[in-house]
Amino acid sequence: MLGAGIVGTSVAVHLAKRGLAVALVDRQGPGEGTSYGNAGIIEGNTVFPAAFPSSFTELVRIALKRSPLANYHLAFLPRVAPWLMAFHAASRLDRLIETARVMRPLLARAVAEHEALAAEAGAERHFSRRGWLKLYRTDNAFAAQATELELAAQFGIANVPLNREGALALEPALNGVFRHAVHWTGAVSVNNPLALTRAYAARFAALGGITLAGDARTLHRSNSYWRVDTASGPLDAGDVVIALGPWTPDVIGPLGIKLPLAVKRGYHRHFRPQGNAALSRPVLDAENGYVLAPMEQGIRITTGVEFAARDAAPTPVQFDRLLPAARELFPLGEPVEPQPWLGARPCFTDSRPVISRAPRQRGLWLAFGHGHWGLTLGPATGRLIAEMMTGVTPFCDPKPYGTDRFAG
Ligand SMILES: Cc1cc2nc3c(=O)[nH]c(=O)nc-3n(C[C@H](O)[C@H](O)[C@H](O)COP(=O)(O)OP(=O)(O)OC[C@H]3O[C@@H](n4cnc5c(N)ncnc54)[C@H](O)[C@@H]3O)c2cc1C
Repeated sequence: MLGAGIVGTSVAVHLAKRGLAVALVDRQGPGEGTSYGNAGIIEGNTVFPAAFPSSFTELVRIALKRSPLANYHLAFLPRVAPWLMAFHAASRLDRLIETARVMRPLLARAVAEHEALAAEAGAERHFSRRGWLKLYRTDNAFAAQATELELAAQFGIANVPLNREGALALEPALNGVFRHAVHWTGAVSVNNPLALTRAYAARFAALGGITLAGDARTLHRSNSYWRVDTASGPLDAGDVVIALGPWTPDVIGPLGIKLPLAVKRGYHRHFRPQGNAALSRPVLDAENGYVLAPMEQGIRITTGVEFAARDAAPTPVQFDRLLPAARELFPLGEPVEPQPWLGARPCFTDSRPVISRAPRQRGLWLAFGHGHWGLTLGPATGRLIAEMMTGVTPFCDPKPYGTDRFAG
């Protein structure tokens, strides 16, 4: 198992539970990559993926670097342009509805699979079952949710549209600078994503799994095995699962597997609340694209997206753009850390992950590209790929998450 993020660690637990001898290899500790810094929302109730902005005004604001929704490095745009065009095409309403339908079986299992794993791992104390709240400052922004709410009704996903007073009754520390809200009641939130992945890793160890330090880029064929070099020496395995999140192309590229992955970078920073102000669930300020998430470390603000090379230096300018709106919404005090944290969401244009056998490589499996939903889908992915690898009828059809969809 290469990669000990929330996805790889969950896969490792599921494989170990099925009696396989599993080693989990990472160059850092479990959960210290992208899985460290998310907003902590297990959003199995999500309908549409994050889409390309449809408002011309918003696009102009993004282009002028005034919008908190997105930032970009100009020199990077030519490299990411083909990906952006495909993402734009996948953001047409009919394609979004198709994505919502093909993702539903996986998303529908997301919360239950986390609950099961957390119960085994003794990690339930990190969960809060109060859903999450999306706020809309304008009537237009709320009206634009109509199709999503209709689809949610078709899928049987619980939500409660609220007016300002209704939302303030749930979160009294907010200021009423918004007009509408939707409370997605089925979401679970996590107060420390790193601790959660570590707890799943400890469960893996308790099942007899071993965790090793190593560089996945050393992966190569050795006779009929796959071999990777670790701090404890070379490790051979008949099957390898690659779950390296945004770093996956570093390993599959040299094996001749090219898949259209890009990263949407995102930042977080914790703030102390002023006085006794508190939040009981994550809150999205929809028009500004940031989330306020209550964490053990403080109120974690996560930003919208940034299109830039994965390894380029951080440019957390979105905080300058969003902080006035965030301070207007919630009484934020001082930041906890001197600098924001930077992560990279591994994203395919169609917002689906790859959970699949690798093409043309015997014994190689792929579990990556979970984009905005990696925390949500880690355990469901773990179960699905473990069922595929052990020849059990999978709990849902894995075809929509295959690599064939990129053929041609
Ligand atoms: C700001 C932000 C907010 C988010 N909010 C949410 C949210 O609320 N809900 C949600 O569901 N998702 C959210 N996400 C997305 C989610 O965090 C990711 O999709 C998820 O963490 C990806 O997990 P992963 O296991 O695939 O990757 P990672 O966690 O990045 O794991 C990959 C692992 O591979 C290891 N690795 C890389 N290269 C090598 C190498 N050469 N050798 C050995 N090891 C290597 C890394 O050390 C890392 O541990 C958010 C993301 C961001 C950035």
